[in-house]
Amino acid sequence: MVLLGSVALAITLLSAVADAAAPHNIPHKADISHPKGSSPWPDYGEKPKTNTPEVKAWVKSVDWSKVPKLPIRKTESPGDPPECPDKDVPKGDCWWTCSGCYAPDDVYECPAKNDWGLTFDDGPEPGVTEGVLGLLKEKKVTATFFVTGMKSSKAPWLLQDTLDQGHHLASHTWSHSALTTLTNEEIVAELKWTEKYIFDHTGYKVKYYRPPYGDVDNRVRAIARELGFTTVIWSNDWDTQDWQLSENTITPKKIVGIFNSGLKSLPERKKGVITLEHDSDKQMVTMARTLLDMGLKKGMKPKNIAQCLNDKVGYNAVPAPAIAPPKKPVADVKPAAAAGVVDGEDVKQAGGVEPEVSIPSSPKDDKEQAGAGPKVAAGAPEKKSSASTVSAGLSVAGWTLAAIAFSFVL
Ligand SMILES: [Zn+2]
Repeated sequence: MVLLGSVALAITLLSAVADAAAPHNIPHKADISHPKGSSPWPDYGEKPKTNTPEVKAWVKSVDWSKVPKLPIRKTESPGDPPECPDKDVPKGDCWWTCSGCYAPDDVYECPAKNDWGLTFDDGPEPGVTEGVLGLLKEKKVTATFFVTGMKSSKAPWLLQDTLDQGHHLASHTWSHSALTTLTNEEIVAELKWTEKYIFDHTGYKVKYYRPPYGDVDNRVRAIARELGFTTVIWSNDWDTQDWQLSENTITPKKIVGIFNSGLKSLPERKKGVITLEHDSDKQMVTMARTLLDMGLKKGMKPKNIAQCLNDKVGYNAVPAPAIAPPKKPVADVKPAAAAGVVDGEDVKQAGGVEPEVSIPSSPKDDKEQAGAGPKVAAGAPEKKSSASTVSAGLSVAGWTLAAIAFSFVL
């Protein structure tokens, strides 16, 4: 009995060694570190509450004199896409959903012709996101993943996997509610909880967000701007409609047709495009492969949003490097690129998080990057080989041996 118990203990500890040695610093299982009902994060599928100390502090940080007093938009059920009014939307509202209006600082295309801002929304989704990551690895391209906070809270390891494979993370709000239908406080809560979740689990503070359904007006934009976020939508006619696959309201053939008509318009376009795809259903992985092959054949250059905008960091803060740079004569050190920090840009190193090596890179090789402007370093920390992880593993291994020895003594 004692022997069996010790063997079980040894197995448990050995599996702990395996976990500690895994390349991810987030275990591949749901977050069960908080007893039911005591999670510090908003509930899955619910709009975050606004009467919590966190949200109150975030609301206080906004200069509300810069936020226009536009109406909260009507919807059938809270969070669903809004109903457009019968009369014209006032120009000053710049409500994209109902008038197609873009604000001057909205991102909806890539500045350089043939650049392709490749984006996937609504993940991470276990069993699907891995498929998209595998596809992108195979094709040696990077993308931006607009993740929701609630989905991330069910699969936090996929955030790290996405970064590890050279991709760029951005926010798609916590609960995927249409933002123009929410109160000011609810908008703050949606954006800040998602930012906090990604930051606490990766050390990266997201800079870009995409409003669910593209639903944004000047009230939502102003709040997002106040909180340090940039609004990203997608290019007109480049919504692939792949989200309809999961509802069986579209066929892959129809999607190929939509994408083909976009490709036909490419020669006339002066700038690059941003497409909208999703990683929330398995059928989308197959679709993404088809569309990626079609675009590559036409000479489109897939990039993540930071790369497409020539934003060398792509975040409002990046993790502090864990390993001190090698001691070299000052003249030999090239500090900016190695730390993912660019001269003159207000990018902070994230403090108070587990330090990690942060040398952003892209799966593209140097040859492919040549001629594409300055090398972009968005989003990819090198895989971590943390000394503390190794020592934790060794210490657990020691306990394992001790447990086995102990069992034989008994
Ligand atoms: Zn979405």
